[in-house]
Amino acid sequence: MNAAIYLRISQDRSGEELGVTRQRADCEALVARRGWTVHDVYIDNDVSATKAKRRPEWERMMADIEAGRAQVVVGWTIDRTLRSGRDRLRMLEVGKEHGITISLVRGSDMDLSTPAGRLAADILGAVALNEVETKADRQRAMHAQAARMGKRVGGRRPFGFEQDGVTVRAPEAAALTAAYHDYLAGTPLLAIARRWNEAGLLSGVPRADGEGMAEWNHSGVRSVLQNPRYMGMRRHRPEGGEATLHPAGWPALVPEHTWRAANALLDSAASEFKPRGGRRLLTGVARCGVCGTPLNAARNKAGPGAVAAYRCPNGAHVVRRAELLDEQITRLVLARLAQPDVVAFLAAAEDDGEHARLAAEAASLREQMDEIAHAVASGGLTVRQAQIANAGLASRLTAAESAMARAGRGSVLYDLTSSQMTRERWDALGVDQQRVVIGALLTVRVHPAGRGVRRPAPETVEVAWRAA
Ligand SMILES: [Zn+2]
Repeated sequence: MNAAIYLRISQDRSGEELGVTRQRADCEALVARRGWTVHDVYIDNDVSATKAKRRPEWERMMADIEAGRAQVVVGWTIDRTLRSGRDRLRMLEVGKEHGITISLVRGSDMDLSTPAGRLAADILGAVALNEVETKADRQRAMHAQAARMGKRVGGRRPFGFEQDGVTVRAPEAAALTAAYHDYLAGTPLLAIARRWNEAGLLSGVPRADGEGMAEWNHSGVRSVLQNPRYMGMRRHRPEGGEATLHPAGWPALVPEHTWRAANALLDSAASEFKPRGGRRLLTGVARCGVCGTPLNAARNKAGPGAVAAYRCPNGAHVVRRAELLDEQITRLVLARLAQPDVVAFLAAAEDDGEHARLAAEAASLREQMDEIAHAVASGGLTVRQAQIANAGLASRLTAAESAMARAGRGSVLYDLTSSQMTRERWDALGVDQQRVVIGALLTVRVHPAGRGVRRPAPETVEVAWRAA
């Protein structure tokens, strides 16, 4: 008799499940013991047993059975082999017609050509499926409960913490805290990813080929920085409802204002502020005086004697030698940073009392919104009343959260510029951080200056200082 071995790879959150390699070895041993021949091994890769997904290998196996190429289906357990009620009905029908036997490593043989065999497969399959579904329900309820209590359940180890999700893992936590500040100070996400990889910090995401953990990349760092866990919060989204934040049972790695500032920047559409690699001082900051488009940096011609130039991407509105424009703006910025009022403006954002006040206000607003939700649940308040009460609180919370984002960003600017700014200190900042300072202080428009890029033409450069 020819045997079809059917296996499934599924996500293993509990750690109870055996690897597919072990399952396969056990199935092959069973086939050998019975004196059968392995016709083929069919392996589908699906993550959850309850979500409907296409399974090409299951389809291929059923086609082989219908064509008479296999007479025995060998699997690990009944729920691994017959995944849904629909699978079960189909297997019973085909099994009856072609005289198929199901043979399990964990379970007995079921001869589907007999009514008793079909009844056993039907009942055992239904019981197993019910267990899977009940477990999924129970898990959903546990997650909701844990979220309300500020706890975490199961899942992958969060970067910066041990498997319990509460104990800080010092080297990763330090790298994360630094990353929030570096990103706000202009370091691109890709540079942060490289730094983490060089330090040997792994992403915790399995590699596509299954060999260990993947290296960090741009989007991996982005999604880590977006996780509210690092400001000591847990996000909970009830089914069909809106996401809410709850104080969590683990320590925050950065204060809320820093997290908000970094996330405002991550979400921001304003590319001039966004840290990005491979840019000159004023790309994206300086705009064309004719059409308003941000200027590109490019060489004005190929070969030796080529000079870097800023140019409008829409035809030849403006073109300017890059070094000259960079130097002109740098001098202006250094002069501005020497004035006492700019330091005072940045210092206001660094006021710790203000940070604490905003954090306390946000916490109190979230608590009030929580109380309203409880009042609705216990019947003390109608949904309509709750909506009215919530609307005012929600807009105040949004205002407090954006004020925190501004304050967090101001802190970083203050760190960059607070002590006496000299030309040496400025040059040591590096282009990414210089861009953040320039973007925060001014906007630049470059107007046409006639032909050629050699002439400095400072009078055609229009600088507007940003207001506090
Ligand atoms: Zn233009």
